[in-house]
Amino acid sequence: MSLKIFLFNKKTLIFCFFILITSFLTTIYSLTNSFAENSPIEIIDKINNIYNSNEKIAYLTFDDGPSPNITPKILDILQEENIKASFFVIGKKVKEQPNIVKRIYEEGHFIGNHSYSHDNSLLYKSKESFLSEIQKTDIEIGKAIGIENYHSFLFRFPNGFMSNIYKSKKEEYVKYLSNINYTYIDWNALNKDSEKKYSNYELLENLKTSTRNKNVLVILMHDSKDVNDSSLVLKNSIDYLKSIGYIFKDFN
Ligand SMILES: [Zn+2]
Repeated sequence: MSLKIFLFNKKTLIFCFFILITSFLTTIYSLTNSFAENSPIEIIDKINNIYNSNEKIAYLTFDDGPSPNITPKILDILQEENIKASFFVIGKKVKEQPNIVKRIYEEGHFIGNHSYSHDNSLLYKSKESFLSEIQKTDIEIGKAIGIENYHSFLFRFPNGFMSNIYKSKKEEYVKYLSNINYTYIDWNALNKDSEKKYSNYELLENLKTSTRNKNVLVILMHDSKDVNDSSLVLKNSIDYLKSIGYIFKDFN
Protein backbone atom coordinates (compact mmCIF):
# COMPACT_ATOMS: atom_id res chain seq x y z
CA MET A 1 0.00 0.00 0.00
CA SER A 2 2.64 2.47 1.03
CA LEU A 3 4.70 1.54 -2.04
CA LYS A 4 1.64 2.23 -4.26
CA ILE A 5 1.21 5.67 -2.71
CA PHE A 6 4.89 6.28 -3.19
CA LEU A 7 4.67 5.30 -6.89
CA PHE A 8 1.57 7.45 -7.39
CA ASN A 9 3.29 10.36 -5.73
CA LYS A 10 6.39 9.89 -7.79
CA LYS A 11 4.33 9.89 -11.01
CA THR A 12 2.43 12.97 -9.82
CA LEU A 13 5.69 14.66 -8.96
CA ILE A 14 7.16 13.92 -12.39
CA PHE A 15 3.95 15.18 -14.02
CA CYS A 16 3.98 18.38 -11.94
CA PHE A 17 7.65 18.86 -12.72
CA PHE A 18 6.91 18.46 -16.44
CA ILE A 19 4.06 21.02 -16.25
CA LEU A 20 6.32 23.43 -14.37
CA ILE A 21 9.15 23.12 -16.88
CA THR A 22 6.74 23.53 -19.81
CA SER A 23 5.15 26.67 -18.39
CA PHE A 24 8.58 28.04 -17.49
CA LEU A 25 9.82 27.49 -21.04
CA THR A 26 6.63 29.00 -22.50
CA THR A 27 7.08 32.11 -20.36
CA ILE A 28 10.73 32.43 -21.36
CA TYR A 29 9.81 31.97 -25.03
CA SER A 30 7.08 34.63 -24.96
CA LEU A 31 9.34 37.04 -23.05
CA THR A 32 12.15 36.53 -25.56
CA ASN A 33 9.69 37.08 -28.39
CA SER A 34 8.36 40.29 -26.94
CA PHE A 35 11.91 41.54 -26.49
CA ALA A 36 12.62 40.55 -30.09
CA GLU A 37 10.12 43.23 -31.14
CA ASN A 38 11.48 46.76 -30.92
CA SER A 39 11.90 48.03 -27.40
CA PRO A 40 12.35 51.74 -26.69
CA ILE A 41 15.52 51.32 -24.64
CA GLU A 42 17.27 49.20 -27.26
CA ILE A 43 16.31 51.38 -30.22
CA ILE A 44 16.94 54.73 -28.53
CA ASP A 45 20.28 53.55 -27.18
CA LYS A 46 21.27 52.18 -30.56
CA ILE A 47 20.32 55.38 -32.40
CA ASN A 48 22.13 57.59 -29.90
CA ASN A 49 25.33 55.62 -30.48
CA ILE A 50 24.90 54.88 -34.14
CA TYR A 51 27.90 56.90 -35.32
CA ASN A 52 30.20 55.57 -32.57
CA SER A 53 31.62 52.62 -34.44
CA ASN A 54 34.99 51.82 -35.94
CA GLU A 55 33.36 49.35 -38.29
CA LYS A 56 32.33 50.40 -41.79
CA ILE A 57 28.56 50.11 -41.63
CA ALA A 58 26.00 51.36 -44.13
CA TYR A 59 22.39 51.85 -43.11
CA LEU A 60 20.30 52.19 -46.24
CA THR A 61 17.16 54.21 -45.53
CA PHE A 62 14.23 54.81 -47.87
CA ASP A 63 11.77 57.64 -47.22
CA ASP A 64 8.33 58.63 -48.46
CA GLY A 65 6.99 55.21 -49.46
CA PRO A 66 5.48 52.80 -49.85
CA SER A 67 4.88 53.30 -53.54
CA PRO A 68 3.61 50.54 -55.81
CA ASN A 69 6.00 51.24 -58.68
CA ILE A 70 9.26 51.66 -56.72
CA THR A 71 9.19 49.89 -53.33
CA PRO A 72 8.77 46.34 -54.74
CA LYS A 73 11.74 46.89 -57.09
CA ILE A 74 13.87 48.00 -54.13
CA LEU A 75 12.73 45.00 -52.08
CA ASP A 76 13.66 42.65 -54.94
CA ILE A 77 17.19 44.06 -55.08
CA LEU A 78 17.62 43.94 -51.29
CA GLN A 79 16.44 40.33 -51.32
CA GLU A 80 18.90 39.37 -54.08
CA GLU A 81 21.71 41.06 -52.18
CA ASN A 82 20.56 39.66 -48.82
CA ILE A 83 20.63 43.14 -47.27
CA LYS A 84 18.30 44.55 -44.62
CA ALA A 85 17.33 48.22 -44.86
CA SER A 86 15.07 50.72 -43.11
CA PHE A 87 11.92 52.27 -44.56
CA PHE A 88 10.48 55.52 -43.18
CA VAL A 89 6.91 55.28 -44.36
CA ILE A 90 4.18 57.90 -44.72
CA GLY A 91 1.00 56.86 -42.87
CA LYS A 92 -1.51 57.77 -45.58
CA LYS A 93 0.53 55.81 -48.14
CA VAL A 94 0.65 52.81 -45.79
CA LYS A 95 -3.16 52.93 -45.74
CA GLU A 96 -3.20 52.83 -49.55
CA GLN A 97 -0.56 50.09 -49.90
CA PRO A 98 -0.72 47.83 -46.84
CA ASN A 99 0.49 44.78 -48.77
CA ILE A 100 3.79 46.44 -49.64
CA VAL A 101 4.33 47.33 -45.98
CA LYS A 102 3.53 43.74 -45.05
CA ARG A 103 6.18 42.58 -47.50
CA ILE A 104 8.74 45.06 -46.06
CA TYR A 105 8.04 43.63 -42.61
CA GLU A 106 8.02 39.98 -43.64
CA GLU A 107 11.34 40.36 -45.39
CA GLY A 108 12.87 41.59 -42.14
CA HIS A 109 13.43 45.28 -42.80
CA PHE A 110 12.94 48.03 -40.25
CA ILE A 111 9.84 50.21 -40.53
CA GLY A 112 10.14 53.73 -39.16
CA ASN A 113 7.62 56.55 -38.89
CA HIS A 114 7.74 59.52 -41.29
CA SER A 115 4.43 61.20 -40.26
CA TYR A 116 0.94 60.57 -41.63
CA SER A 117 0.65 63.37 -44.18
CA HIS A 118 4.24 64.58 -44.75
CA ASP A 119 2.64 68.00 -44.60
CA ASN A 120 4.54 70.34 -42.29
CA SER A 121 1.58 72.71 -41.90
CA LEU A 122 -0.46 69.85 -40.43
CA LEU A 123 2.41 68.26 -38.54
CA TYR A 124 3.27 71.42 -36.60
CA LYS A 125 -0.27 72.80 -36.26
CA SER A 126 -0.37 71.83 -32.57
CA LYS A 127 1.12 69.37 -30.13
CA GLU A 128 -1.98 67.18 -30.58
CA SER A 129 -1.66 67.27 -34.34
CA PHE A 130 2.05 66.32 -34.16
CA LEU A 131 1.39 63.35 -31.87
CA SER A 132 -1.63 62.28 -33.90
CA GLU A 133 0.43 62.31 -37.16
CA ILE A 134 2.85 59.86 -35.54
CA GLN A 135 0.28 57.69 -33.78
CA LYS A 136 -2.00 57.42 -36.84
CA THR A 137 0.99 56.21 -38.84
CA ASP A 138 1.86 53.55 -36.26
CA ILE A 139 -1.77 52.40 -36.32
CA GLU A 140 -1.71 52.01 -40.11
CA ILE A 141 1.62 50.14 -39.98
CA GLY A 142 0.20 47.87 -37.27
CA LYS A 143 -2.89 47.11 -39.36
CA ALA A 144 -0.76 46.36 -42.41
CA ILE A 145 1.60 43.96 -40.64
CA GLY A 146 -0.95 42.49 -38.23
CA ILE A 147 0.59 43.74 -35.00
CA GLU A 148 -1.66 45.48 -32.53
CA ASN A 149 -0.15 48.58 -30.86
CA TYR A 150 2.79 48.72 -33.26
CA HIS A 151 5.35 51.24 -32.10
CA SER A 152 8.32 52.01 -34.32
CA PHE A 153 10.17 54.15 -31.72
CA LEU A 154 11.98 55.92 -34.52
CA PHE A 155 10.76 59.03 -36.30
CA ARG A 156 12.27 60.82 -39.25
CA PHE A 157 11.20 64.44 -39.59
CA PRO A 158 9.96 65.31 -43.09
CA ASN A 159 12.92 67.18 -44.71
CA GLY A 160 15.10 66.06 -41.78
CA PHE A 161 15.53 67.65 -38.38
CA MET A 162 18.68 69.45 -39.54
CA SER A 163 17.10 71.26 -42.50
CA ASN A 164 16.02 74.87 -42.17
CA ILE A 165 12.44 74.12 -43.18
CA TYR A 166 10.18 74.72 -40.14
CA LYS A 167 13.37 74.81 -38.06
CA SER A 168 11.97 76.61 -35.01
CA LYS A 169 8.86 74.41 -34.99
CA LYS A 170 11.00 71.27 -35.07
CA GLU A 171 13.14 72.56 -32.22
CA GLU A 172 9.98 73.25 -30.26
CA TYR A 173 8.23 69.95 -31.04
CA VAL A 174 11.16 67.54 -30.73
CA LYS A 175 10.60 67.30 -26.97
CA TYR A 176 7.20 65.69 -27.53
CA LEU A 177 8.88 62.65 -29.07
CA SER A 178 10.30 61.46 -25.78
CA ASN A 179 6.80 61.68 -24.22
CA ILE A 180 5.75 58.86 -26.54
CA ASN A 181 9.01 56.86 -26.32
CA TYR A 182 10.27 58.08 -29.65
CA THR A 183 13.60 59.25 -30.91
CA TYR A 184 14.55 60.51 -34.37
CA ILE A 185 17.32 60.11 -36.88
CA ASP A 186 18.49 62.17 -39.86
CA TRP A 187 21.23 60.97 -42.22
CA ASN A 188 24.87 61.72 -43.02
CA ALA A 189 25.00 60.58 -46.63
CA LEU A 190 22.68 60.83 -49.64
CA ASN A 191 22.51 60.59 -53.42
CA LYS A 192 20.32 63.72 -53.63
CA ASP A 193 17.57 61.78 -55.38
CA SER A 194 14.86 64.21 -54.22
CA GLU A 195 16.70 67.46 -54.92
CA LYS A 196 16.57 67.78 -58.71
CA LYS A 197 16.73 65.58 -61.79
CA TYR A 198 20.06 63.75 -62.02
CA SER A 199 21.32 61.05 -64.38
CA ASN A 200 21.93 57.64 -62.80
CA TYR A 201 25.66 58.27 -63.14
CA GLU A 202 25.32 61.55 -61.22
CA LEU A 203 23.23 59.94 -58.48
CA LEU A 204 26.00 57.40 -57.88
CA GLU A 205 28.64 60.15 -57.94
CA ASN A 206 26.60 62.15 -55.40
CA LEU A 207 26.56 59.12 -53.14
CA LYS A 208 30.31 58.56 -53.53
CA THR A 209 31.03 62.19 -52.65
CA SER A 210 28.81 62.22 -49.58
CA THR A 211 30.11 58.93 -48.18
CA ARG A 212 33.79 59.89 -48.35
CA ASN A 213 35.83 59.43 -45.14
CA LYS A 214 32.94 58.19 -43.00
CA ASN A 215 32.84 54.92 -41.09
CA VAL A 216 29.15 54.80 -40.41
CA LEU A 217 26.78 55.82 -43.16
CA VAL A 218 23.10 56.55 -42.71
CA ILE A 219 22.15 56.94 -46.34
CA LEU A 220 19.03 58.79 -47.41
CA MET A 221 17.20 57.60 -50.51
CA HIS A 222 13.53 57.63 -51.47
CA ASP A 223 11.22 54.83 -52.53
CA SER A 224 8.98 57.30 -54.27
CA LYS A 225 9.49 58.59 -57.78
CA ASP A 226 8.94 62.27 -57.11
CA VAL A 227 12.17 63.38 -58.79
CA ASN A 228 14.52 60.43 -59.43
CA ASP A 229 14.08 56.66 -59.25
CA SER A 230 16.72 55.40 -56.80
CA SER A 231 15.82 51.77 -57.50
CA LEU A 232 17.70 52.21 -60.80
CA VAL A 233 20.97 52.96 -59.00
CA LEU A 234 20.52 50.78 -55.94
CA LYS A 235 22.39 47.73 -57.25
CA ASN A 236 25.38 49.85 -58.34
CA SER A 237 25.32 51.76 -55.04
CA ILE A 238 25.42 48.51 -53.07
CA ASP A 239 28.23 47.13 -55.26
CA TYR A 240 30.23 50.31 -54.73
CA LEU A 241 29.77 50.32 -50.94
CA LYS A 242 30.66 46.61 -50.75
CA SER A 243 33.78 47.17 -52.86
CA ILE A 244 35.09 49.70 -50.33
CA GLY A 245 34.39 47.45 -47.37
CA TYR A 246 30.98 48.36 -45.98
CA ILE A 247 28.61 45.91 -44.37
CA PHE A 248 24.89 46.64 -44.31
CA LYS A 249 22.56 46.87 -41.35
CA ASP A 250 19.08 48.10 -40.57
CA PHE A 251 17.77 49.72 -37.36
CA ASN A 252 16.24 46.49 -36.03
ZN1 LIG B 1 10.13 62.63 -46.63
